[in-house]
Amino acid sequence: MVGGRRAIGVLGGTFDPPHIGHVGIAHRVRSALGLDEVLFVVAHDPWQKSGSRTVTAAPHRLAMVEAAVSGEEGLRCCPLEIERGGPSYTVDTLEELRRLEPAAILVLIVGADAAAQLDTWHRPEDLPGLARLAVVDRPGMPPAAAPPAWDVVHVEGLPEDISSSTVRRRVAAGEPVGQLVPDGVLRYIVEHGLYAEGSP
Ligand code: ATP
Ligand code: MG
Repeated sequence: MVGGRRAIGVLGGTFDPPHIGHVGIAHRVRSALGLDEVLFVVAHDPWQKSGSRTVTAAPHRLAMVEAAVSGEEGLRCCPLEIERGGPSYTVDTLEELRRLEPAAILVLIVGADAAAQLDTWHRPEDLPGLARLAVVDRPGMPPAAAPPAWDVVHVEGLPEDISSSTVRRRVAAGEPVGQLVPDGVLRYIVEHGLYAEGSP
């Protein structure tokens, strides 16, 4: 609760795959800001990425996020963008969450890399009216200055940078990733042969 109101963190991402960095920052922001829960919003079509690389099918990414948050207190998988279909715009998601939870405070959670790109999102001028912003540092990236319109809070990041790109690269090279992803995600990757060279 924040000032007596229910407060919901919104961590959007491609989650291709989700990793312990996502889980770690969600817990950090939740406890730093006193959020009731953090929603992992899985992008249906991450339109800024899907032009440049093949993104894993949405049902796989959703299932991996469900595995990643299972048993994690206060973290929840949110299928809204996948149910909506089409290109995934955070502004639509925040508007939908406002309708579902009109009394709640929404806090959009982004890493420093994403914070620096907020102006390139769909309808960027409408975002600050819908949510507050929590920016998490990312090792190796300069601390991001969010666009001035935002009510922003900075949260210290994790000591090591972990990224989905690293996980994908390591799996394709046959290297272990057990330290980088939750156990359930590792099992899912192995069972479905994701990220191996020549996989779908
Ligand atoms: P990719 O390497 O494919 O871009 P990613 O690890 O950046 O994957 P995304 O799904 O793109 O994961 O990220 C979703 C959100 O989580 C973004 O706001 C991103 O900045 C943030 N994020 C991901 N990993 C970290 C991390 N280790 N520290 C801080 N923020 C992170
Ligand atoms: Mg990223």
